[in-house]
Amino acid sequence: MPRKKTQKSEKEWKGVLAPEAFRVLRQGHTEQPFSGRYHDFWEDGVYVCNACRTPLFRSEAKYDHGTGWPSFSVPVDEKNLVYRDDFSLLVKRVEVRCAVCGSHLGHVFDDGPAPTFLHYCINSAALDFIPAGPDPRTARKPGAKKPGPAAEDGTGAGGKAGPKQAG
Ligand SMILES: [Zn+2]
Repeated sequence: MPRKKTQKSEKEWKGVLAPEAFRVLRQGHTEQPFSGRYHDFWEDGVYVCNACRTPLFRSEAKYDHGTGWPSFSVPVDEKNLVYRDDFSLLVKRVEVRCAVCGSHLGHVFDDGPAPTFLHYCINSAALDFIPAGPDPRTARKPGAKKPGPAAEDGTGAGGKAGPKQAG
């Protein structure tokens, strides 16, 4: 059994998901090949369900199948996925869904690389990417500062710090 299921109405999903993500995740659409964020994206990290943030695939399992969609050879955990036969194109394909929220992710084929020969063909819009950090479990703690350029040259043009009175 997967973890606690995420239950939302389609109306609620529509409110929280970007339009393209809603079409893919909740309506089973397939994005245009070579159109998504992740088909040619090779950073280290974890791809999570764009609806419920369940970890689905690691960057180590990602490879270029040349189809224009992100391709993976193995999931993070089989328990996070569910499979359904899909005959919508008149040939049998196996649809892949998120086990936690039931969202459509893509399809799985058996023409992938050894040793699994699996080819998870997943829509970019169904995924979100969490970059590998020093420790992802502490990365979200308030007060944890990101290393970055310390630009202190006083060109704060965006700051509208005018006098403001409350009440
Ligand atoms: Zn999900």
